[in-house]
Amino acid sequence: MADKSDRVKYLIAKENECLKEKLDAASKIMKNCHFCERRCGANRKEGERGWCGVLEPKISSEFLHFGEESELIPSHTIFFTGCTFACRYCQNLDISQYPKRGIYIEPEILVKLIVKRKQEGARNVNWVGGDPAPDIPYILGVLNRCNVNTPQVWNSNMYLTEESLNILEGVMDIYLTDFKYGNDSCAERLSGVGNYREIITRNHKIISDRNNKIIIRHLVLPEHLECCTFPVLRWISKNLNPENVKVNVMGQYHPEWKARDYGEINRRLTRDELERAMRFADGLGLELC
Ligand code: SF4
Repeated sequence: MADKSDRVKYLIAKENECLKEKLDAASKIMKNCHFCERRCGANRKEGERGWCGVLEPKISSEFLHFGEESELIPSHTIFFTGCTFACRYCQNLDISQYPKRGIYIEPEILVKLIVKRKQEGARNVNWVGGDPAPDIPYILGVLNRCNVNTPQVWNSNMYLTEESLNILEGVMDIYLTDFKYGNDSCAERLSGVGNYREIITRNHKIISDRNNKIIIRHLVLPEHLECCTFPVLRWISKNLNPENVKVNVMGQYHPEWKARDYGEINRRLTRDELERAMRFADGLGLELC
């Protein structure tokens, strides 16, 4: 009979095999890029840049983050430059809209940093940007070399294709998602993305139905309670598994970048707006964090 260490070795080998298959799938997507639903079709392997402008992965910083949700901290946060959105009020502009900034870190070096951060107390590895979707092949390449047993956090706007979601399934342990808008016109106007509602609801439903742990961030925008906050929170309460989902109703919006050109969002949230959002979430029985 196989002893326990044989069993562990077998499971690790199976996991590596599975990761390699996912790496192959991701590598194919790079030739006709569709990691996100912009589906540019850029051949990034041949140096073609798509809408997000990301070619090779560039990292702007990595550190132990204490500002994430309490159950995640300290979190080893790895920030990629480049994003699949262009939110007019982006609070991380210097990262998200400049995909050529940052440095390429060899996967072996990043593995060493992951080990070091774990020794320093990291409870997880938190892949974020901008948005990490364009960097899926690199992330898999790092994890394929990494034997540290740390939960993986996918921190994203969730504008992913189903192909990307399938690759991430079983690799990510926690989905830390953004769900910003309750309708397509606000998403188009304020983040420059199409078909937002269908894509974001589809993706949340998929990961919830697969019993993944999800923390949803909803940034409350000034004067967007009726059109965005209430419909988003209502949808979550009706469609996702409450056992796996927590919601972070965020009130820290402040106008940045082009917000001054977009009337109603050119100010901070009022206390009354935040209280109404919180009361609404509470009334739906959502688990808040
Ligand atoms: S990840 Fe970038 S290149 Fe790929 S489909 Fe999305 S926007 Fe286009």
